[in-house]
Amino acid sequence: MLTCSVCINNEKTSKIKIVNGKPICKECIVYLSHKPDKSKIQAELEELMKDVDKAIVAFSGGKDSTVALYLAKEVYKVPELEAVMIDHGFMAGEAIENAKRIAEYLNVQFTILRYDYSDIFREAFLKAQSPCRRCSKRTMEKLRRYALKKGVKYIITGHELPFGHHPYRLMSGGIIQIRLLSLMSESERFEILEKLPFEFPNLAGYTTNCLILGPALERYYEKHSFSFEHRRIAALVRYGLLDRKKALEKVKKPEIPEEIKRTVYERLNLEELL
Ligand SMILES: [Zn+2]
Repeated sequence: MLTCSVCINNEKTSKIKIVNGKPICKECIVYLSHKPDKSKIQAELEELMKDVDKAIVAFSGGKDSTVALYLAKEVYKVPELEAVMIDHGFMAGEAIENAKRIAEYLNVQFTILRYDYSDIFREAFLKAQSPCRRCSKRTMEKLRRYALKKGVKYIITGHELPFGHHPYRLMSGGIIQIRLLSLMSESERFEILEKLPFEFPNLAGYTTNCLILGPALERYYEKHSFSFEHRRIAALVRYGLLDRKKALEKVKKPEIPEEIKRTVYERLNLEELL
């Protein structure tokens, strides 16, 4: 099977062509002809952040949103911040502890809003699909409504850029999502985490906050024999944000601790799938 010589896409995850004797995926062909300008994106972020006097940070207690909260508070010095965790019902206890500890350390108000996303997760397990897109869409909508209610215009998130060429997105009702980690590499993120009281939880599937991800990746892998995160992780390699070796580790079939798996399936009433 051919693997892209730039990222880690292969024939299962993308269309591979041979260009100048080397295999290359269709996303990398587009990327190489329209490379994003990192300094331009950074300048755009700086400009945008100058106007931000009040913001909500989408704070899952995971490593990326922790970095985003740190940047908002310590680098951009946003005067009024609220870190909001949307608990979809399956947040790891360690993530909630991390979130409380970090918010307290950075002296930022911390709010948890609790919901039940079992409908999304059950369906994803039954169909062996990824739950992430629907989960994240619902979470952004809940945050948008919360921001509107609180009269806050900006929502800062720990998303990375690779899927758009601007570090912000206009949402309905005049709310603006700011992707504060745009084009920040994994090693830059780790440098920031080291300064903070962040403890890495022992969860499967490289997640630092969600109990669903590992078992969902496993189930998908068993049906499709590749990871539903493969293309997202390939994009990080393409953009030079993650090295190839680490990326290949992350797209392997995850090893799920038995008790996490059992808890998730039982709570979703899906024991018959075990
Ligand atoms: Zn590629």
